[in-house]
Amino acid sequence: MADIIQLLPDSVANQIAAGEVIQRPASVVKELVENSIDAKATSITINIKDSGRTLVQIIDNGTGMSETDARLSFERHSTSKIKKAEDLFAITTMGFRGEALASIAAVASVELKTKLADSDIGTQIIIEGSRVLSQEPVICATGTNFAVKNLFFNIPARRKFLKSNATEFGHIISEFERIALANSSVEFKLYHNDSEIFILSRSNIRQRIISVFGKRINQNLVPIEAETSIIKVKGFIGKPENARKRSGEQFFFINNRFMRNPYLHKAITDAYKNILPPEVVPSYFLYLEAAPDTIDVNIHPTKTEIKFEDQQAVWQILHATVKQSLGKNNIVPSIDFDLEHNFEIPVLTRNTEIVNPKIDVNPMFNPFDEKQTSAGNNRKSPAISLEKENLANWEKLYDGFENEKNLPDDFSFPSQPETQQTLTDNSFSDRYFQFKGKYILTPVKSGLMVIDQKRAHERILFEKFMLSLESNSVISQRNLFPKTIELDKKAHALLMEIKDDIKTLGFDIKDIGENSIIVNGLPADSINQEPEQIIDIFLNEFQNGEIDAKSRVKEKIAQSLAKASAISSNQSLTTEEMQEIVDLLFACSMPNFSPFGKKIISIIKTEEIEKRFS
Ligand code: ADP
Ligand code: MG
Repeated sequence: MADIIQLLPDSVANQIAAGEVIQRPASVVKELVENSIDAKATSITINIKDSGRTLVQIIDNGTGMSETDARLSFERHSTSKIKKAEDLFAITTMGFRGEALASIAAVASVELKTKLADSDIGTQIIIEGSRVLSQEPVICATGTNFAVKNLFFNIPARRKFLKSNATEFGHIISEFERIALANSSVEFKLYHNDSEIFILSRSNIRQRIISVFGKRINQNLVPIEAETSIIKVKGFIGKPENARKRSGEQFFFINNRFMRNPYLHKAITDAYKNILPPEVVPSYFLYLEAAPDTIDVNIHPTKTEIKFEDQQAVWQILHATVKQSLGKNNIVPSIDFDLEHNFEIPVLTRNTEIVNPKIDVNPMFNPFDEKQTSAGNNRKSPAISLEKENLANWEKLYDGFENEKNLPDDFSFPSQPETQQTLTDNSFSDRYFQFKGKYILTPVKSGLMVIDQKRAHERILFEKFMLSLESNSVISQRNLFPKTIELDKKAHALLMEIKDDIKTLGFDIKDIGENSIIVNGLPADSINQEPEQIIDIFLNEFQNGEIDAKSRVKEKIAQSLAKASAISSNQSLTTEEMQEIVDLLFACSMPNFSPFGKKIISIIKTEEIEKRFS
C-alpha cells in the first residue's frame, strides 16, 4: 500500500486549533482584550455588532507592533511572551501560547492596524481564512486596532451552532466583566450596535466593582485582606443578608487573571455555612497574588482553570480569612469562628524569615469525596457540613430498596379511590408527617414513603407550566403593586428575548429602559417568594446551562420558573398542604423525578423496618 500520511496545510491546522481556542464571539473578545492588556494598554475600546457575529473590534493604546511582528503575529506558535520551556513556570502575561491570532485569522476576516510609539507610520494587514490579502503602510494611532469580521464565515456548521443574540452577548459581557474587574486601572469602553454598554474609567477595585454591577452593590461589600508567605489575598466579600440565590457575582482572580476554582469556591461558601441557607451563594471578589512558579496556568487551553502548588493551604487561608472578616465586621458573632478555628494567618513582614505557614491539613481530605466522614480525624473536615452527613446517612437507610425508575409493583398510594372518601376524616390526614421541614412522610402499603417536598412541588409546577406553554393557555396571575426591579445587562437582554413566552405563564413585565423593568404580575403559583427573588432565581436558572434547540426553550423556561416558584426545603407545611402536594404529585405524568432529574420519592420497605426490631 502507498504511503498515506501527509502534513496538514497551515490553514487547516489553524482551523482545527481554532476549534479549541475560539468557540464563540466572546472568545475573540477575551483573546484580543487580553493581548491588549499584555501590550500594556491603559485604554481599551470594544465595538461589537450583532453579538459579535458581524464585528468584534478591539482598539488599544498599547505598545503596538512593528511591521515584521504584525505579520508574524498571525503565525501559529508565534509569541513574544515566552522563549523557552522554563518560561512556562514564570508566566506573568495573560497569553503565551501564540495561538489566538492564528486561530482567529483562520476562521474570520481580520483587519489589523498597528503602530509603535516611535514610528510615524503604522502597518495594515488584511487576512481572511489564514490568507494574507494585503499588507501595507498606513497612518494610524499608536497602539493596535483589530477588526474581526464575519466570524466562522468559512465554517457554516460552527456559525449555525452559535446561540441566540442575547445568549452570545451574555457570554461577551461575562468575559468583559472578568477582564474589567481584574484590571481596574485600565479604562474600558464597550459598545454594542453603536450603543454604549459600559464606560469604565480608571479606578480602584471597589469603584470598578460598583461601575460594573451598579450602585446597589456598594453597601454589600465587606473588605478582606490577608498576607501570608504563600499567598496574598485582598478584595471584598458580600454581606450575608444581601446574598442571593444566584451565581454571577463570584470572582476569583489570581495575579490579575480570572480563574475558576470550584475547590476554593467551597472554602468561601463553607465560611458562611451557618449563616446562610444552603441554596444562597454569597458574592465575592477575591484578588489573590502568588509567585508565578507556585501556580499552573497551563492545564487548560482557555486558561480559566488554575492549579496551586499547595491547594489545601490556600483553601485554609481563604476560609480563615473570610471567617475572620465576617467576625471582625460583626457579621457573625466572633465566638462562632473562634470556637471552630484557632487558626493563625501567618503575617509576612519585611524582616521575618519566610517559612511555610503551619496549617493543620488533613492530607486525606478531599472535599469532593462525599463519602468521607470526619471519623478518624481529630478535626472536622471543613468542607463537609454536618447537615449533609446526616442527610447522606438518612438517605442510605433506604438505598437499594426501591426500583430506580418506577414505583414498586405493590405500591399503593393513600389517595386511591377507596381511601379518598376518608379525606375528611382526621385520622387519615394525620397520616402525613413532615420531617426536618424538608420531607413528607406517609405510610403506604409497602412501607414508609418519603417525598422531597421541594422537588415534588417543582415537578407539579413544571408540568403545569409546560401545559400552559404548549397550549398557549394563560395561567392565572397574581397582581402586584407595580414593582421596579433593576437588572444587570445580561439578565435584562435575556428577559426581553423570552418576554412573550413567560407572559403566558403570568409574568406581566414592562421594560422601562436602563435595564430596569416594572413587574405588575407574576404566576399565581409563586406566592412563596418575593417578586425580586422569583425573577432572580428564574433568570439564574435560565441563564446557566445551554439551550440547544428552540423547542427546548419552553422546557427550560418551565424548569427555571418551577425552581423559582417552588416551596423551599425548610418550609413547614400543614397537613392539608402536604396532602395537596401529594395528590398533585401523583396526578403528574412523571411523579418520580424532579424536572432536573432528581429523585422525588423513596420508600422504606416494611421489611426493612421490621428487620430493625428483630
Ligand atoms: P500570545 O498572546 O499567546 O502570545 P497571540 O496569538 O494572542 O499569542 O498573539 C501573538 C503575538 O502578537 C503576541 O505575543 C504579541 O507579541 C502580539 N500581539 C497581539 N496582540 C497585540 C496587541 N494588541 N498589541 C501588541 N502586540 C500584540
Ligand atoms: Mg494572546
